[in-house]
Parts: sequence; C-alpha cells; structure tokens
Amino acid sequence: MAVSRISKNDRRIQLEREEAGDHLYANRVRVYPKAVHGMARRVKWAILIACLGLYYVMPWVRWDRGPGRPNQAILLDMAHERYYFFNLELWPQDIWLLAGLLIMGAVTLFLVTSLIGRVWCGYTCPQTVWTDLFMWVERLVEGDRNERMRRDAEPVTFDTVWRKAVKHGVWLFIAFWTGGAWIMYYVDAPTVTVQFWTGHASAQVYFFTLLFTATTYVLAGWAREQVCTYMCPWPRFQSAMLDDQSFTVTYQSWRGEPRVRGKRHEGEAAGDCVDCGACVTACPTGIDIRDGIQLECINCGLCIDACNHVMERTGRDRWLITWDTLARQAAKKAGRFEPIRLIRPRSIIYAGVLLAAMSALTVALALRPTIGLSVQRDRAPLFVTLPDGSLRNGYTVKIANKTQADSPFVLSVAGLPGAVLTVSEESAKPAPVLTLRGAPDQVSTYRVLVTARPDHLPEGTLPVIFELRDGTSGERTTYKSIFMGPATYNGGPP
Ligand code: SF4
Ligand code: SF4
Repeated sequence: MAVSRISKNDRRIQLEREEAGDHLYANRVRVYPKAVHGMARRVKWAILIACLGLYYVMPWVRWDRGPGRPNQAILLDMAHERYYFFNLELWPQDIWLLAGLLIMGAVTLFLVTSLIGRVWCGYTCPQTVWTDLFMWVERLVEGDRNERMRRDAEPVTFDTVWRKAVKHGVWLFIAFWTGGAWIMYYVDAPTVTVQFWTGHASAQVYFFTLLFTATTYVLAGWAREQVCTYMCPWPRFQSAMLDDQSFTVTYQSWRGEPRVRGKRHEGEAAGDCVDCGACVTACPTGIDIRDGIQLECINCGLCIDACNHVMERTGRDRWLITWDTLARQAAKKAGRFEPIRLIRPRSIIYAGVLLAAMSALTVALALRPTIGLSVQRDRAPLFVTLPDGSLRNGYTVKIANKTQADSPFVLSVAGLPGAVLTVSEESAKPAPVLTLRGAPDQVSTYRVLVTARPDHLPEGTLPVIFELRDGTSGERTTYKSIFMGPATYNGGPP
C-alpha cells in the first residue's frame, strides 16, 4: 500500500493553514527556504548579478552631451523637466512615448507569460531579485534552513542576537544602497553623493533615500513571499495569459505517484517520488508543487533543482519536477506524444500587437518634432480698437526649441489677410512675419500683438492659424487660435 508522510515542519504548516480555515485573516506561516544548487539556481544567480549590477552601476555611466549639459547616461531630471536616455532627450511633451514603452513592456510580459509562464516573477521581478539577495545574506549569517529554524525555536542566546543584528545591519546597508541608487537616476550621481554626505543635499533627496531604504528593507527582508501572494496583482490576472500549451514548473504526477517514503516493499505500487519534501523546503513561497499549479508559485524552478538532486541520489531519472506544458503532461500520462506548440493564436496575437507597438514607437521617435508652439490668447482685454480703426489681439506665444542650435524662428498667422505682428515689449515696426529667437533646449516666451488692418477687419470671431518655421532646418508646426472683434463681443458669447 502506498504510504505518504510529510516532515514535521510541513505538518506544522499544514496544521496552521487548516486552523486558519475560512477566516479572513491568518497569521503568516514563516517560510525557511533551504539552499539548493542546480541549473535554475545558477540562472537565477546570473540574472540577479546582471540586474543588480546594471541597477547600481547605470547612474555612474557618463555620456557626453556637450558643454553645459548633463553627462549622465540615464537621468530623469525632474527639476529641469528633461529625461535623458543616452542620445535620446525627452521633454514633458514627449511623455506619451513613455506610455508607449510601458504598453510595449506589458505586451512583452503577456507574450512571455503565454509561452513560458511566470518567469518574470521567478527571475527578474525586483521583489524576487532583492528577496533572493536578502535570503543569501540571511543564510550566510544565520545558516541554512534547519539552523535558522532551530535558533528561532530555542530561547534567545547571545549567538542568536549578534547574528540577527549583523543580518539586519547588512540588510539595512543594502537597502540604503538601493534607495540611494534610485535617487541617482533623478539627480547627477557624483554631485548628489557629495552633497548627501556633506549635508548639502535637498530635503527631498534625504526623504526619498530614506523612503526607498525603508521599502526595500521591509519588502525584501520581512514581507518577502507575501508581496507575491497578497500584494501583487499580477498573479491574479496572469491566468488569462496562460493556457495548457504554456510552459510552467510542473510535477509529473503520472511518474511520481503513488509517492512512497522510505523502504519500498516487494510488489508495492510506487512512483518515483520518495516523499522527501525537498521540493517543499526549497520553495521560497513555501508551497508544495505536487499539489498542482498554484497562485503562489513564481515559477523559479528551485524545486526542480532540489528534486533533481534527490533523483540523482536515489538512482532515478532526473526531471520528476520539470518545465512542461499541461497538454504535454496529459499526453504523457495517456502514453501519447504531444509536440511543443509555441505558435498558437494567443502568441500570434501578442507578438503581432508587440510588433505593431514597436513599429509605431520607432516611427514616432524618428518623426518626433524638434520644435513646439503654444499660443494662448489674452482674455482681457478681448481686443483693442486702435485710433486708426484697426483691431488688435494679444497672445502669449511659447516656442519650444528641442535642438541644441540657436535658430531663428519665423512666426506668421494665416486666416487674417493683411495682419501684422509685433512683440509687445519691442519697438520694431509691425510686419506680416516675426523673426523670434528660440533659445536652444529651452522654451522661449513672447507676448505677440496681432493687428488687423481697418480694410480687413474680421466679423466676430475668426479662426486663425499660427505657423512657426525653424529658420535653419525648415521644420514647421502650427497652432489653431482665434482673432476676436467687436461683432462677437456685442453679438453674443465668444
Ligand atoms: S513551487 Fe517550485 S517553482 Fe513554484 S515557487 Fe516553489 S520552488 Fe519556485
Ligand atoms: S523533491 Fe522530488 S522526490 Fe522529494 S518530495 Fe519533492 S517531488 Fe517527491
């Protein structure tokens, strides 16, 4: 007869979960993941080092943009409303490009999830990466699972206290380093580092560094798997992206069951699972993959490494727990062959949407205007009648020059025959076109007066179009506005 037994700790977890029953609140069941070695672990280390290396080093990478300009490769300069990504400089008006990037990121995530499940969660999500790093520190200082469980169960000793103090000290150091690095994406890294340690940084810099230090420490050190299970919305709707052809970490029950622990008796029906619980103790979220696909599973594959070791030690074939699709597992159980189907309707749709979004974003980036025009009409007075009978309207004109060239800009107005323009503070004679200076990489503001001659007075409100031309590149842009006269003023609301 098949016998299934579980370890004391797993039994305790099971009992605590049963006690919680249907209650809305359940105490956290502390997870003590055991260290494992294997392919998944190696891939996780490699990705962790790459992600953290990039995160901490990027603010220090320099990028020459010419004199007087920031030389940080990636800089989100909120104070001056400029966002630098190597050669690319974005203005607040370009924020829709960022929205496009986010959409691309989301669709990429949909596509990857539909193909290979929650690998984002298990390998690259910041919560996973920092939690992994914090767990590594914990293991280094407090020992592996059994040692930590023993210490936590026993009365507090000096050995326990100094180990916990060192662990939390290192955690806080990493958290502070993480919070500080985050700030360096918003303020020049070398400058803010000096300012920070000499007490000359702004209050916001100190506040946000402390805030991000605290969130990193709490989320990666204390909350850990609870963020994935309770706080993150992604596990809730990822099932919409998965189908039975998506790869996921799965226990091959057709091969493992009935599980039998210990000595096997002659003629006893027994699968390959020796019910050792190694897959459960290795799991950072504390679940048993043998129960099937669960919301808590982040597809990290550590249970695969743990089980492979057990299979090797007991002389069985590896990959009792493996990456596979549910369809292939069902086929294997029935003794059939099921091919891998990466190309299927949902993956085609996601890939199509991703390709379209990438193309649209590339074209939009290439055609991004380098000049901008905004025209606000004066509300008071609505218009002025001059002694010679002509009408004058005032406008605030803003010229955005996104280039580094100090170009002359030519402003004209269409829709008002014979109109002349002048800058209010200047004494120049009104002319049909104005030549204005658009300072490089800045927004220049002018108050422009538009005058309609007595022989071309508009009746009521007249739509007009301001046109701005870059005198150097010839690039044009327009802005729609109105010119107002007395007929509208007396005849009804403008
Ligand atoms: S069940 Fe396996 S793949 Fe899922 S979270 Fe646990 S260790 Fe990772
Ligand atoms: S590690 Fe493998 S053999 Fe051990 S309980 Fe898990 S599935 Fe069974």
